[in-house]
Amino acid sequence: MTHCKNRKGEHQRRYKKHWAEIQESNKKYYLAHKDEIDKYRLEYQKAYRQLNNLKVNARNWAYKNILIPNRELCFICKKELATQRHHEDYSKPDQVKFACLKCHNILKRQKDG
Ligand SMILES: [Zn+2]
Repeated sequence: MTHCKNRKGEHQRRYKKHWAEIQESNKKYYLAHKDEIDKYRLEYQKAYRQLNNLKVNARNWAYKNILIPNRELCFICKKELATQRHHEDYSKPDQVKFACLKCHNILKRQKDG
């Protein structure tokens, strides 16, 4: 068993060293391009926040204003009862499709990835 332990330790040490090298080169790159990177980061954050607000607002709006019809079937599998509101476009909160939890999760995963 000590054999396995040693190999694992060796692997971790190598990994740590490699990691440190990556961190170091990232730092150098960052310092050389600080202004660009900071600007890019800020813009990215701003865009992300805007999109996220849109998403949260659309969801909240639909939650309050759109009831899922009784016995409505999922628009994807058309088998399960719909329990989820799905927005194709978050800038149109009133345009909602109804999906079951399973299909909705798959959709969300596709969108995020
Ligand atoms: Zn479904």
